Amino acid sequence: MTFRQARYDEPLLWEVRPPREATGAAAALPGVPARLLRKRPFQWPELSELELARHFTRLSQMNFGIETAFYPLGSCTMKYNPRVAEVLARREGIAGLHPAQPEGTVQGILELLYDLESALGKITGLPHVSLQIAAGAHGEYIALLMTRAYFEERQEHERTEVLLPDTAHGTNPASAAMAGFTTREIATEGGCVRVRDLKKVLGPKTAAFMLTNPNTAGLFEEEILEIADSVHAAGGVLYYDGANLNGILGKTHPGKMGFDVAHLNLHKTFGTPHGGGGPGDGALCANDRLEPYLPVPRIRKDGERYCWDYEHPRSVGKVKSFFGNAGLLVRAYAFILAHGEEGLEAVSERSVLNANYLGQRLGQHLPRPFKPLVKHEFLLSGAPLKEKGLRTLDLAKRLLDEGVHAPTVYFPAIVEESLMIEPPETESKRELDLFYEAFKRSLEDSPENVRSAPHNLSVSRVDEVRAAKELILSHKDQPAAPHA
Ligand SMILES: *Cc1c(COP(=O)(O)O)cnc(C)c1O
Repeated sequence: MTFRQARYDEPLLWEVRPPREATGAAAALPGVPARLLRKRPFQWPELSELELARHFTRLSQMNFGIETAFYPLGSCTMKYNPRVAEVLARREGIAGLHPAQPEGTVQGILELLYDLESALGKITGLPHVSLQIAAGAHGEYIALLMTRAYFEERQEHERTEVLLPDTAHGTNPASAAMAGFTTREIATEGGCVRVRDLKKVLGPKTAAFMLTNPNTAGLFEEEILEIADSVHAAGGVLYYDGANLNGILGKTHPGKMGFDVAHLNLHKTFGTPHGGGGPGDGALCANDRLEPYLPVPRIRKDGERYCWDYEHPRSVGKVKSFFGNAGLLVRAYAFILAHGEEGLEAVSERSVLNANYLGQRLGQHLPRPFKPLVKHEFLLSGAPLKEKGLRTLDLAKRLLDEGVHAPTVYFPAIVEESLMIEPPETESKRELDLFYEAFKRSLEDSPENVRSAPHNLSVSRVDEVRAAKELILSHKDQPAAPHA
């Protein structure tokens, strides 16, 4: 058995049937004033209802999602989003709420959000939580604004530097720069930060050290406690990029490791949908040191009543329209309740088992740059492909022909021709074995076939630079250019 991918070359409706001037009901809307009507009559292709239904069904099948096949995108945690969370978030009492409703009429959702905050406070060991942030990078940015406010209040104006390891996610330096800091990169050794190297750059200019743990190599930072002590001894803030908590959920937490503030991606670890540009959702969790600066409004409980609390004069202020992506927060809450404490611990056990199982199998075919025992994800190096005149990119494209999504490639940059693979807890052994076979077939295929892949999709190799720089997002009434 292999994965299978639907393949269609679905034309635009305009290409199926030449557009005609709209007639019948569409043209004459009784009672609509002339000034609201189009100046030129609308051109519209006339199709039967069935033709139309098939067109949109086929378009939907050209998409790839977590429910199509294995989606091993490293540092992304593409896990199944349980239906139970969808059902709950779509209940009338939740989906029908309006953010401008008076507090007295939304006590239920306020209680839910309050409980979600305490659950996330326990999960991270950082008890003060804001659910206002839209996603991971937004959380990083807001936490760095909080860090800046903290040092400004202490009149420590010389603290202008944010330190990062060379394994850092690309959003980390970008957020630091946006928050007005300069960044300094620390070289890792064997995939981990070494305290002796960190100490060389820590000093009176240090505002924060941003770290992911387990890091993007899938490794748990061996010297994490010494790292925390050194950053604090230098007066700095220790920031936890908790985008992917899959590797440690229920086992340990950033509070225990000594972090001051953390962001979580609810759309990675806590089973809320993501991809295709959003919407994601995040949480920002802080210890007592940074708590006063969390965004407003916060949720307060007065006796049995919940309310929005804006009375935090040292807060960085409001950072999101209304109260965050509430619909996704409901899904994350459902995910946490449905799992329970033991279930959340099982999430990390299964995802670590999956990563190590697949890592062991694929490691027989491509080198693994660091020590083989990992947490939730692992790296491979595609460097040996060069002997056949191929690159990691070619292998990633060839995998698409197998009906799977490609892994993350060329990140982190410390590994030559890197592939980063994350098989979350929702994948079964059978799916992992199918992926292994697909990977092996791709490696054993002829170099010509790999270099020209993908062959089975409706779009073949695209010009990556042009595709990123010359976005054409709308169809003008003209014949479509043939696919590249
Ligand atoms: C995904 C990710 C981010 C960014 O999160 P977004 O929600 O995409 O902004 C940051 N750090 C790490 C380690 C990530 O995996």
